[in-house]
Amino acid sequence: MPEHLSIASIAENIRCIQEKISTATHRSGRSHDEVKLMAVSKMQPATAISEAFAAGVRLFGENRVQEFRQKLKDLNTLGVLVAGCGSSGDGNAAEVHLIGHLQSNKATRAAELFTAVDTVDSLKLALRLDEAAGKLEKRLPVLIEIKLSEEAAKTGFEPESAELMELLDRFSDMKHIQMRGLMTVAPFDENPEIARICFRHLRQLREQLAARYDRLDFSELSMGMSGDFEIAVEEGSTLVRVGTAIFGSRPKPA
Ligand SMILES: *Cc1c(COP(=O)(O)O)cnc(C)c1O
Repeated sequence: MPEHLSIASIAENIRCIQEKISTATHRSGRSHDEVKLMAVSKMQPATAISEAFAAGVRLFGENRVQEFRQKLKDLNTLGVLVAGCGSSGDGNAAEVHLIGHLQSNKATRAAELFTAVDTVDSLKLALRLDEAAGKLEKRLPVLIEIKLSEEAAKTGFEPESAELMELLDRFSDMKHIQMRGLMTVAPFDENPEIARICFRHLRQLREQLAARYDRLDFSELSMGMSGDFEIAVEEGSTLVRVGTAIFGSRPKPA
């Protein structure tokens, strides 16, 4: 067995997921173009990313700075265009977002490498990313990660925390990062309705915060993974992060 699926399978998996997203949007009175599909390529080789790129995917998620830095060379060799990495301004380039916990001492490298950081989980990290993006003279889009369940997330802001409010209060002073919305990881549970409660909670939080901080952009709701993306779409997700259902199971770490 190869470590990842063949070209036909990855393309076929993507097609199948897009169809499920369509069905879920119809069920909930939404339109498919409100939902972006992110292919989560952590632990997958550049060849698998290249196959998904060939199948039309232009949004990828990686969870480690160092891992993606190494893959980037292979992606260049394979002819996969990555936004901001020598191909800025090319509408055909792929965006790669960081979706893993980032230590603030790696903020500079992350701001260099990634199109966006979707896992801002502390005020300190937001400040570091703002400073790093400033030095690079770029605007870095970010999502704030919210922790809604003890089991699922070890990182993220508690929804009612003083630190979250302080971050939101100070956002307009941070000129180099651009607030785009919220992100969460639902708990693993056999019962998908547990995830639904979590997704609904994130959407409600978004509504409350958007009313209170009306100058900030809360339009993105990143929620839903391989096991629960259809439920997430029904509950208002604008960005689903799908790994296993596209690429198959992840190769074991070396
Ligand atoms: C790994 C990961 C995913 C993808 O998970 P799958 O179950 O493989 O779809 C999505 N979001 C985050 C934050 C991840 O770390």
